[in-house]
Amino acid sequence: MRAPGRINLIGEHTDYNDGFCLPLAIDRECVVRWEPRTDGLVTASSEQLPGEVALAADGSTDPAGVDPPWGRFVAGALRVLAELRAARGVDLRVASTVPPGSGLSSSSALSVALTFALADAGGLAFPDRRDAARAALAAEVEATGVPGGLMDQLCALFGVAHHAILIDCRSLDVTPVPLPTTHAVVAVHSGVPRTLAGSAYAERRAACEQVAARLGVTSLRDTTPSQVADDPIARHVVAENARVLAFVEALHDGDANALGPLLLASHASLRDDYRVSIPELDLLVQLLVEHGAIGARLTGAGFGGCVVAMVQRNHADDCVAKATREYEARTGIVPSGFVVRAVAAAGPCS
Ligand code: ADP
Ligand code: MG
Repeated sequence: MRAPGRINLIGEHTDYNDGFCLPLAIDRECVVRWEPRTDGLVTASSEQLPGEVALAADGSTDPAGVDPPWGRFVAGALRVLAELRAARGVDLRVASTVPPGSGLSSSSALSVALTFALADAGGLAFPDRRDAARAALAAEVEATGVPGGLMDQLCALFGVAHHAILIDCRSLDVTPVPLPTTHAVVAVHSGVPRTLAGSAYAERRAACEQVAARLGVTSLRDTTPSQVADDPIARHVVAENARVLAFVEALHDGDANALGPLLLASHASLRDDYRVSIPELDLLVQLLVEHGAIGARLTGAGFGGCVVAMVQRNHADDCVAKATREYEARTGIVPSGFVVRAVAAAGPCS
């Protein structure tokens, strides 16, 4: 079974606020192959990370105690599948081209591919792919203890080639939106690991919940700009939701000129109001724009990882080469940039 990574074009830190986001499934994917075994064990190995795990197929292993740590994803998926009564003994082999820890969601590519592989082995189908997304998220939460939103899993399960995916994180409605053929989407990893991302994520999430509670609403989705004008954290979320909808409208209208300023406004808001940027990400955004991107912004939780940019297609490679060269000269950190293609959702390997 295969599941793609994703890059979020716009709509950052909105998913856990019942808001909107616009990721695309990218041409970097995790493949999990399975072979049956008869002793009630599930073993797993990864081509990318060392170590092997052997776990009880009934989901009785506590993920927190599993070593190597990546094996916790297997233990988490087994727990969830065991609850769905679909566990059986298998040998699993993981092979992924999604770079881990860079904000392209190697973790949900892994958890979706594992969930599909174990379900396949256990004879379980997911007629509604939202249920597969929920199961994969539950597996990831079991594995990491981090209560993430559903964006990554929904994108892996509803991606469409040449389209971004508008997700309404309240209704879980998913709408494919065609991407312009004139422009490429580019991912550039800053080379900075996201060490602070976990704790800051939890803090920001709690801050959002506090504002919503103070205003007497279920989530920040239900607030207006004037209600949150004095609160930078909530202000980002409310403005970001509006930017996602404006971005989708511009895509529908073929108005490429409107896209860049929305990406840049999103970055500024994440930097100044939500405060999840770092100087390296700010510099990358600036250099990409100086070298011809129509817009760029940090993507993923922040504090390192990747920047996403849109660049005229025939100029994209040149822009990335120049921006990354200058970034390396100025910071001494080696970045890596590449054009991404929007691909189809998770499914059987072809
Ligand atoms: P991201 O999802 O942005 O890539 P995370 O920190 O959420 O970053 O997830 C990275 C983790 O996912 C890795 O530390 C590892 O546990 C797991 N993982 C990702 N890719 C693989 C792989 N190819 N093999 C085994 N585990 C992987
Ligand atoms: Mg992740």
